[in-house]
Amino acid sequence: MQKYDIEKLRHSCEGVAQRLGLTIKHHKALCPFHNDHTPSMTFKEARFKCWSCGESGDSISLVQKVLGKNFLDACRWLADEHNIILADESSKFQDSGFKSEVKPFDASRYERFFERPWLNEEARRFLFDERHLDERVVRWCRLTSWKDKQGVAWLQIPYYNREGKLVGIQNRNLVRGALPRFRFPQGSQCGIYNLPVLNLLRPGDELFITEGCSDCWAMLSAGHKAIAIPSATLLTKKDIEQLLSINSHLSTQFHMYPDRDEPGERLFLQLQKVLPSLVHHQLPLGCKDFGEYYTLKIKH
Ligand SMILES: [Zn+2]
Repeated sequence: MQKYDIEKLRHSCEGVAQRLGLTIKHHKALCPFHNDHTPSMTFKEARFKCWSCGESGDSISLVQKVLGKNFLDACRWLADEHNIILADESSKFQDSGFKSEVKPFDASRYERFFERPWLNEEARRFLFDERHLDERVVRWCRLTSWKDKQGVAWLQIPYYNREGKLVGIQNRNLVRGALPRFRFPQGSQCGIYNLPVLNLLRPGDELFITEGCSDCWAMLSAGHKAIAIPSATLLTKKDIEQLLSINSHLSTQFHMYPDRDEPGERLFLQLQKVLPSLVHHQLPLGCKDFGEYYTLKIKH
């Protein structure tokens, strides 16, 4: 692999940790390598360190250790996560065997899963009992579920482009607290979520932007039109370009309820630079994100 490629993979370690399912607050998380009760793991740029058990490293070694992968597989996982095609322009590496294994997303392999979505008990519990989502939203998003060989239930979330073509899949582990929390088939382009909704926008309609698809489902269930961006720490150049293009093609007012924490506000400011007309809505005290606000509202 080219050194340049490896450098591209050394993303913000915090963002990578989030994708691995660690919950981060104030740049700290519970260490997955020892029985941690107070968040002992800290993040700084591309590195992590546990101040309790001493485990440390960079984003690549974090993936290696959490997912039990070797170096090369960890690099592939990171490349998939960030939609980076490794050694893309470099013909030198075509014969290394590396490039050939990072295949583009093969939609034809997965499309049929979403033709007749099926929700197992775990998925129904998560979507309807816990999140109180509207059945119509779940159908519109074509959410489906499956179980792996170990009997672990996964929610399967398809990502479509505006033309309705399947471009990626996010699998969400339905076992609470289990790692990894997410899995993405190779080459999945899980950038902006729910792009087909743009085709339903009428002039003057409001469009909400949420962080992550589960808040997007809550927003849709609350009767708003919404798209989601993947995560505060991972707003890619491609996501930004897409938002700019949406903004220039639609006469839409953008709205957002930022998560009630520092990354949420940071994301709002980052997005406001791209969408100057973005309207800030404040979540009530005690609600950390819109999903929580929505379930509270619907229960009362
Ligand atoms: Zn530790």
